[in-house]
Amino acid sequence: MALALSFLVLGGTVAAQAPDSAAPYPQQLPRFTLHEIVIERNDSLLRIPGPWLRAAARTFPDSLVTRSYVVAASRIPLTPLGQAALESERSQHVMGLYHRAELLEASRRTLEAIREAIPSDSTRARFDAIFRSHGQWVVDLHEAALAWVRSRNPAIHWADAWRTLVAAHWVDPSDSSIAQEAIPRALYGLAVLSETDSAAFSDARAGLWRADSSSAMPVFALLQGYAAARQWYAAALGFFLNQPWIPDGGGRSVRDLVNNEWRHVLASDMAVPVPAIEPHWFGYPQAVPHYGVPPRLFARLVRAENPTGTEWLRRQGQAALLRSLRALPQGDSTLVLLQTSSETLRLTTVSRQARESLNGFLEPQDAIAIDPGYSPLLGLGAVVHEWQHLLFRRCQLERYADGLGRRDTRIVRLPAVEPHLAEGFAEWSAERILDPVVRRWPLIGLGELEKRAGLVQAHSDDQHALGYALVRALAAALPQPGLTTALLLRYADAPAGLLNEPKLRKAWSQYHGASQVEAGSVAPRILMPEVTFTIEDGVPDVESTRILLPPGSDARR
Ligand SMILES: [Zn+2]
Repeated sequence: MALALSFLVLGGTVAAQAPDSAAPYPQQLPRFTLHEIVIERNDSLLRIPGPWLRAAARTFPDSLVTRSYVVAASRIPLTPLGQAALESERSQHVMGLYHRAELLEASRRTLEAIREAIPSDSTRARFDAIFRSHGQWVVDLHEAALAWVRSRNPAIHWADAWRTLVAAHWVDPSDSSIAQEAIPRALYGLAVLSETDSAAFSDARAGLWRADSSSAMPVFALLQGYAAARQWYAAALGFFLNQPWIPDGGGRSVRDLVNNEWRHVLASDMAVPVPAIEPHWFGYPQAVPHYGVPPRLFARLVRAENPTGTEWLRRQGQAALLRSLRALPQGDSTLVLLQTSSETLRLTTVSRQARESLNGFLEPQDAIAIDPGYSPLLGLGAVVHEWQHLLFRRCQLERYADGLGRRDTRIVRLPAVEPHLAEGFAEWSAERILDPVVRRWPLIGLGELEKRAGLVQAHSDDQHALGYALVRALAAALPQPGLTTALLLRYADAPAGLLNEPKLRKAWSQYHGASQVEAGSVAPRILMPEVTFTIEDGVPDVESTRILLPPGSDARR
């Protein structure tokens, strides 16, 4: 039973008393309660059963990861990175900034083949508008930046930036034989700096002017091109996700492939929502999912406290309310702990969690932030991977919300996903979904294969590499792929339960008794207090904040 423990000072708001929903509200501003949220722990490796680990090592050893990468590269064809380069140049490689000429050539060939296979003229026209500007191929961010500049000043070339970049030490003059990649590498670095560190960028700008004021102009024009090319990047990925460019069945999009896989799992007639693509300068080939809130969970998280609130929600919608949560007080920036008789919980707020977590928190919509430098043909694999995270989590949270039934929940406990299981599922599922595309155009699968080959070399217990082997082993022991997804969803936060499944006990009987990996440290659960607030012009005003002691945390030892 949840117990009202105390009222608390957060973000300078002192709640003197609990909100009384029966009390008349003078201005009748829309009033809401966001229930207390407890995020359960993601204990890495804590609970992966030994027989499963052993089956993974047997079914899918590291050597197979490397071999799949080398074989795929030979089909493109493209020279695979050797051991040393996998470690030091993998990021630059998939961004078209290492062995650039070879990747550009392979990308153009692949886009040409895709263009030929596009089943309809209207889709081909859309494709051309993005990838063939004025009859010239535009295959990545760097080419899009140059194309943008040249559409305004056709006389500009990469080489025009060379002198200034050398004089300001942004490129090494000895790189002149690879100027084609050294210049975009430097400009990409400057573009990232302009967004991530304004003071350092302002120094860099001054340095470029000082170094060679007569030829600094092309550098700044190209940097404007990089900023503008982010839009091109979102359009390029958006094309692959939404347009029917895959020739199967008269024309399919990646969304159709994803939908086909997930329709049954989500048990919904509605098409799966396509996440928004948000280009973001990470400075390396990174993609990150931002988790939206499934409507069934939203209904358990937020309660309208007066008729104005109900009406506001009806008109403005769930996303508007989630956006206004961002403006709630962030609370203490230092570590605040709640000590109960049996555990320690970390206290935070929704707005702080949204700001501090790479994945955001209670986002208004599903989105994928991706570095626009990630070559779009290779980045597509990463996008479908992140999309699998979004769909898996959506499904898990919807089932959790449904499981609450009619119970009046004052504390919403968001279930964990074991990280190896989460990554392994995303790797495995994305690979299966893109398989028909990668068979035709192997370059599209290369980014993910190269990532795994690099990861197993560095740390073989990496969440993606080991997770992938674990899920491959699970799928090998089960008759249909749908069952793999179903079991992973059922045991997402407690993988040990998999051993209760008769099919798996039988398949892994030879590994019975193998020991599981022990986790080093255990992070505390996170608690966000209940908040009651009004909203005026989209801005929330807190009336009260309170902490309810989560069930189980007050057990006497
Ligand atoms: Zn992932």
